[in-house]
Amino acid sequence: MRLYDDRICEVLTALTEQEARELPVGDAADQRQCNWPDAGRAMMVLQSDMAYELGGHHLPAVGNTLVTMDQTLVPQDEILLYGPDLPEITTDTPYARMALVRVAEDSIGTGDQLYNMIQNIGYFRYHIYPKGFMLRVSSSNDRESVRVAKDALQEGLDFTAIGNAMIRALRLHKEVEAVKIIFVTLPQAPYELFQENLKKTKQITATIDHMLKDVNMDCNSCGLQEICDEVEGLREMHFGIKEQGDDSCLDDTETKEMNDRIK
Ligand code: SF4
Repeated sequence: MRLYDDRICEVLTALTEQEARELPVGDAADQRQCNWPDAGRAMMVLQSDMAYELGGHHLPAVGNTLVTMDQTLVPQDEILLYGPDLPEITTDTPYARMALVRVAEDSIGTGDQLYNMIQNIGYFRYHIYPKGFMLRVSSSNDRESVRVAKDALQEGLDFTAIGNAMIRALRLHKEVEAVKIIFVTLPQAPYELFQENLKKTKQITATIDHMLKDVNMDCNSCGLQEICDEVEGLREMHFGIKEQGDDSCLDDTETKEMNDRIK
């Protein structure tokens, strides 16, 4: 599955010019940072208790999760930070969080199973509640901002704690083999590119959903042609899904016609 690999490469290429800090993961991190307390449920950070907001005041606020099987893109668990860490930030700042998630080759399946896996992995952000770090997700506006609490900063909250919490949450999925978390707080980072990248990521996932629900298999009359032209493997996946589901209904001529429609 290479569906999101070009999107991952785009993010990594866009950041090559910038300097990254590699933050400690697991046992390499301070015990407090490695096991930052989780509130266990959604909690509020009121404005009066807030030090600042990542992505506040309409500044860029991008959160994206991209799945791959490519070990060269995500070799091991890793946390990279581009820009100031949480204790170094004093005011609202632009923000991007990308989670690059490598899954096992034999775990992904096809059709519903693949779609559900991708969605469930992306939903990890709704299941973590690090103390003092309140995620505010707006799917309709494609924004993921964060309110950071003053008292949590005094207790040592930083991106090492948050990155480790995210890796732990993603590693709960049995398909996941490694996770690269990227945080960006640099003022001059290419946030527009990250936002566009997120839009395309959502289009790819929506196309998989369409393939599962819609019986239209005529590429010429399909509104998703552009995205299928661009993303390697999508077209093959659609016809593969139908091939699986319709095995008994297709004769050889129909199968040939179907394969001819794959560009
Ligand atoms: S493969 Fe063709 S029919 Fe299927 S979603 Fe893509 S463009 Fe549409």
